[in-house]
Amino acid sequence: MINTVRGEVKKLGKTYIHEHIKLDLSGHKKDPDTNYDDTNEVMLELKEIKEKGIDSIVEVTNRGMGRDVLAMVELAEKTGLNIIASTGFYKEPFFPEYFYQLSDKELIQMLIKDIEEGIDGTGIKAHVLGEVGTSYNEIHAAEKRLFDIIGDVHLNTGKPIFTHTTLGTMALEQIQILEEKKVNLEKVLIGHMDLNYNLEYHLRVADKGCYLGFDTIGKVNYQPDENRINLIKELVARGHENQIIISLDLTRKSHLKKYKGIGYSYLIDTFVPLLIKSGIKEETINKFLVQNPERLLSIP
Ligand SMILES: [Zn+2]
Repeated sequence: MINTVRGEVKKLGKTYIHEHIKLDLSGHKKDPDTNYDDTNEVMLELKEIKEKGIDSIVEVTNRGMGRDVLAMVELAEKTGLNIIASTGFYKEPFFPEYFYQLSDKELIQMLIKDIEEGIDGTGIKAHVLGEVGTSYNEIHAAEKRLFDIIGDVHLNTGKPIFTHTTLGTMALEQIQILEEKKVNLEKVLIGHMDLNYNLEYHLRVADKGCYLGFDTIGKVNYQPDENRINLIKELVARGHENQIIISLDLTRKSHLKKYKGIGYSYLIDTFVPLLIKSGIKEETINKFLVQNPERLLSIP
């Protein structure tokens, strides 16, 4: 069973695993481009990918990031996509004031309520604990606290955990915290691994049994896509094809087509053909887009 903003589904079909449809990080980033609020343009682009065969999107915007669950419902209705909502907190400095004021127990109860009763009094339930993050090359004390809290919410609900690593750093440390909490690592997706071009590191994360997020595809200012493809080929060659999931993580207006960005269709229009050209089989790509997301998100 998987909860979407329009109710439960059993199958996801082709899925973008780590996306945002609306968020606002401009308060801290001081850059109006990071107020991602052109919902009409997002709707048009989501309609396009639905027509091109995509069925589901996991929306990983959470508390403090400008999560808007009613916009998710509206876009799910207008596009026909399944949209899956999330709960949790992002990373410093994006935690809301109350994160520091409330007790662990109060925060845990708050997140469980998002999952069991619904978000912001809407009755619309979160299904994913994400995106929960850590800073670049370090984990702040408040971020460690977040991971402990998320571990407890996972133990109470069984919901999958999606992390944010900053440029692919601190993945093993994130895993260690969750492991100490006795979290089932087969329900954990380590996000933004594709920003760290280091095969050895990827293999160490894969050996833990987690999923690896190649979820910033097309962000070539950080990492060329050919590096992503090289890593994917090496991981597949070593038997890790059941642990790779792909997505784009569009977060800025300038990522959208209207503003000359790559747009949501880049993954299927450009990246998948590159994967095929590099020798990755279509059935393997289907694992990245369908079977792996379904296995990660399904709760008995
Ligand atoms: Zn992220």
